[in-house]
Amino acid sequence: MIIAIIVLVIILALLWWAHGEGVPVFLYHEVRKDSGTHPLLLESEMSYLASKKAKSFNFTTAKNYIDMHGKLPRNSVIITLDDGYEDNYSKAYPIFKKHNISATIFVNSGFVGKKAEFLTYEQMREMHPLIDVQTHTRYHNKNFSSLKLIGVIGIFGELKNGVDDIYGISREVGFPILEYGGEITHRKLSISSAFFIQFKKYFDENLSDLTEKEILERGQGFVNERADDICIESDEMWKKRVAEAYLCNRRDLEKGSGQQIEHLAWPWGYYNKKTHQWLKESGVVGFATCIRGTNSRKLNFEWIRRNSIQNANMKKFKFRYFICKNLILGWIYEKLSTKNAKWEIKE
Ligand SMILES: [Zn+2]
Repeated sequence: MIIAIIVLVIILALLWWAHGEGVPVFLYHEVRKDSGTHPLLLESEMSYLASKKAKSFNFTTAKNYIDMHGKLPRNSVIITLDDGYEDNYSKAYPIFKKHNISATIFVNSGFVGKKAEFLTYEQMREMHPLIDVQTHTRYHNKNFSSLKLIGVIGIFGELKNGVDDIYGISREVGFPILEYGGEITHRKLSISSAFFIQFKKYFDENLSDLTEKEILERGQGFVNERADDICIESDEMWKKRVAEAYLCNRRDLEKGSGQQIEHLAWPWGYYNKKTHQWLKESGVVGFATCIRGTNSRKLNFEWIRRNSIQNANMKKFKFRYFICKNLILGWIYEKLSTKNAKWEIKE
């Protein structure tokens, strides 16, 4: 009995100590009425953080603070927004400013100034230093990464965002869908447009009346026979592509925003050990993941856990904040979170 009480007291003491030792990092995308986070919800969430006297940092200020003091103060929080939508300026920034809350926006530099729904460099400069920008790769693209046939356009299988130029020509019903992944985390296949057109012809003539299973089997045979025409990137080429893409991206973002770029958020939440190493060699210091859970006040920059609160309500937000503020509860939350399971790319 006495032992049980002692154990309970120790557990409670540890939990008490751990409260405020965790650094929750939250992840948003769009802030607008029709998708992402509603501005009124963001306002309530930020006002809640302000009422809790949370000390907010962005990646730049967090890094500087840790370099000077060794770790962030207790009760710290980091807000991040991915993709760099224009509403981050027009809707979210006024809220951050009102509550004096810092945030980091991970931007796809390829869209800046080209698509109206994304931020401009002028806006980035205006929001700085309360809000800093960091990189989220150039185009947030996907590429075909293996010869495995997983579907056919218009028939079955999904191929949605980030695939604008995956075929090099406009997409048509009957084009093959091969296994795909993120532009930096996955090996890239170079496939000529002629191959897709040939596949479509083969599909129209031989496969269109078959079942999904039969289409996959015979379609795969067709792909394999032409494998010699498809160039599969070697590790060396892949490494070079990743490094060059990052360096170009950094150069453009630094020139446009006037800020130092050294942190990256993995696009699509994909992660790859090899790419991680290559990016480190190219100068990336901080890596924002989509792994749920919390961070210690020293922040392991190679592995920043983030909690997406897209589509969350106030109750969920408060709950996640409470859990992730606590180093022990946040750790348990990470272990229990099933969404973390599909994180790493096995290659
Ligand atoms: Zn993204």
